[in-house]
Order: sequence, then C-alpha cells, then structure tokens
Amino acid sequence: KIRTRIAPSPTGFLHLGTARTALYSWAYARHHGGEFVLRIEDTDVARSTQDSVDQIIAAMNWLGLSYDEGPIYQMQRLDRYQAVIDQLIAEGKAYRCYATPEELNEMREAQKARGEKTLYDRRWRPAPGKTLPTPPEGVKPVVRFANPVEGDVTWNDLVKGPITINNREIDDLIIARTDGVPTYNFAVVVDDWDMRISHVFRGDEHVNNTPWQINIFNALGAPLPSFGHLPIILGDDGLKLSKRRGAVSVMDYAANGYLPEGMLNYLARLGWSHGDDELFSAEQMIGWFDGSHLSKSPAQWDPAKLDWVNGHYVKHIDEARLAGLVVEQLAGRGIVVTAAQVQPKIGLFKDRCATVAALADWLSMYFAPVTASAEDLSAHVTEAVRPAVASLAERLAALGEWNKANIQQALKETLTAFGLKMPQLAVPVRVIVCGRAQTPSLDAVLEHFEQKKVVERLQSV
Ligand code: GLU
Repeated sequence: KIRTRIAPSPTGFLHLGTARTALYSWAYARHHGGEFVLRIEDTDVARSTQDSVDQIIAAMNWLGLSYDEGPIYQMQRLDRYQAVIDQLIAEGKAYRCYATPEELNEMREAQKARGEKTLYDRRWRPAPGKTLPTPPEGVKPVVRFANPVEGDVTWNDLVKGPITINNREIDDLIIARTDGVPTYNFAVVVDDWDMRISHVFRGDEHVNNTPWQINIFNALGAPLPSFGHLPIILGDDGLKLSKRRGAVSVMDYAANGYLPEGMLNYLARLGWSHGDDELFSAEQMIGWFDGSHLSKSPAQWDPAKLDWVNGHYVKHIDEARLAGLVVEQLAGRGIVVTAAQVQPKIGLFKDRCATVAALADWLSMYFAPVTASAEDLSAHVTEAVRPAVASLAERLAALGEWNKANIQQALKETLTAFGLKMPQLAVPVRVIVCGRAQTPSLDAVLEHFEQKKVVERLQSV
C-alpha cells in the first residue's frame, strides 16, 4: 500500500517549500489510492509550539491537503524510541558514548591538524578484543548508532536517480541525546517504519541524512521506503527563498488574497510538470501525479506567474464564494459589507484582478471614501474641466432612473455642451469618484454606485 507523509517541525508557519513537499506527498498517495500521514516532528522541545502545529494544520486545510492519519506527535512516542534504542544496544548495534564535548573538540582539532575529515573516532564503540574506558562519574552518555564501517549505501532516488555513499564517509550517528530524546535521523526511521511509509518525499537538504537512515532501517530489519529529494526553491533573485525576501508562509498568501486553487496549482508546477499543462485542478493533478517528471534542478519562485495562475481562478471560481472572500478582505480593512452588496459588482472587475485583495482594492470605492493621488488630481481635475464636472453632477442628480443608459446619456450631453471628448471628462470623473484615473467602462462603474454618492463626490471638488 502506498503511504506517504509530511513531517514538519512545528517551529513556525507552513513554509512554501514544506507545502510543496506536502502537496507532492499527498498527490502521490491520492494518485495510488494510498494514504497520507501528518507527523509532527517536535523533538526540538525548546522551539516547538502548539500554535505552530495549529498554523500548519490551518494551512494544510486551506490548501485542501487532507490527511488520513495524524497529527502524530513524536514527543508522544518517546517510549517507543527508547524501546528500539534498548533493543539496538542489546544487539550490539548501538552503544553508549561518554565522550565529553571537550574531548570531542580535541579529537576534531587533532584530525584537522592531520588534514583528515572530522569523524567521530568510535572510541566508545565496543569491538571484539577492545577494552573500553571506564565510564566517567557524572557524565551522561549519548547513544550512538554503530554504523557499518565498510561497504556502500545505495539508493535510487525518485528525483535524483542513483546515489551511492561509502560508509567510510559516515560516522556513528548520535541517536539519543543525553536526556534520552532521540535525534531526527533516528526518530524519523522508527516513525517511517512504524507508520509503514512507502515513499518519502522531502527537501534535498536531507539528502545527506539518508545514508544514515538507510543503515538504521537495515539494522532494524525494516523494509526501506523509496526516497525522493526535491530541489530547493529559489527566490526570484536566485537566492534561497527566505523570509527576509518576501512572504514564505502559505497563510500569508491566503491573507494577501490568493486562492487555494491558485496556490496549489502554482506550487504543483514548481518542480513538476505534465506536458504543457499550466492550469489544472487538484483532481487533475492527482490523476497525473505518478512520481515521474519531477525536476532535478532548483525551481524559481515567480510572483508574476503566481499572479497569472491565481488570476485565472479569481476569474473562474463561483462568484458567491468570491464575494464572501471579498467581504473578508474588506472586513480586514475595517470596511463592513455584506456579500449581497458585493456580488453584483464583482463581474465588472474580476477579470483584471490577480488576487482577492486586488478585487477588494477595486470594490472599496463603493463602500469607503476614496482619496485620489495628488498627481492625478492636479493632472486631470483641472480648472478648465470643473464647470463640465459640475454640470455632469447636475445632470446625474436629475436622472429619474439610475441605470447605465441614462448615465451614458448624461455624459454625452455634458460632452456636447462643453465641446469635450469622452476621455477629457471621463478621466477627471474617474479620479474624483473612483480615486483612480483608469477603470472599466465609466457608465458601468457608476451604475453600481448609489446615485447620490456619485453626485456628492462630483460636487465635493
Ligand atoms: N522534520 C523534518 C523537516 O521538517 C522532516 C524531514 C523528513 O521529511 O524526513 O525538514
């Protein structure tokens, strides 16, 4: 049975890179009718928080990445890890190491001085005919895994292809700290084994950990999962995507008006392709995502493409839902409105919006005062055009029925009376009523206002 997992450390929000790994793991499980597990790797007790777990789960829910098991917390499994450690020690596959940090430091300095690689010298590793030192008083030991000293570790990475590491390159990994808490590389193996994980997708910063993990799987007699290490995501500046250079939290994108469909579609393409398809649903991705066509080279975060993808969904999702999202966006800006007020106005603007936030930018003019920029006011609302604006205000105020055709008629009459061309009047009106010089067709934009609000704004200058 295909079983995948995402195993975030709850030390912050759901990072875009982790979200992509989660998406691929989820899609792979769904494609094969398998299962997807959420595991919380919270052994870094000082940095792990429940708030972070909640944020990660909220982001997964928002993206629609449903999991079949979990959240499973590593800190609730300490007894299990301890039992496996005891068993490994009993079998001679792990051992206690009493070397102090000072001693290890000395060892490494000596290795460096000799021009050698700094590897633990296995001083506490039992061996036939070897006499171990007496454990010093008061030093709490760590537990180390007795890594094979020769031979190769080889796996066929789902992304990178075959990888081989010689065991001479790898030292005896600490699997439990002095306080008994297991280290990442050990807990991850026990978990992937116990949770019957068949395919591990993760970021390629873990590729160096995999040889250790494979050796531990083998020592436990556990079946090996397949591993796929996904290349990193670079920012649009070519550097590793990071908080300092823009949003990296999935929920920041939600707050900024991106849609889960857009985010999922965009993340899917960051390191995977299906022919020339750029726009597809989660269901289509599940249908296609069989583990092939994963890219070996780093992906580049492209805000313009994200906007293009997201804009597609802004255009196509159900308008009632879109109205609800605009209501939330506006509420976040202190503008309280109902979906019923918003929905009729959406159609006029949504085609030009990449995000719900951009749509809210447009619609706020209907519900809150507008402030045009000083440049727009001085460039377009000139002394020369004011009489025409005043005259238009009167004509609009006099309209019996407030509709597009009548508004258009009032505009035309004003143009004729003042000998103006449409843009000469329409641009100042836009600046005054909408707070910006460019809008969709003016009669259509004005129709969605209350008549008296348009008249008031035109008379306010
Ligand atoms: N907690 C690890 C991380 O967030 C998990 C790595 C793995 O998937 O094995 O990077």
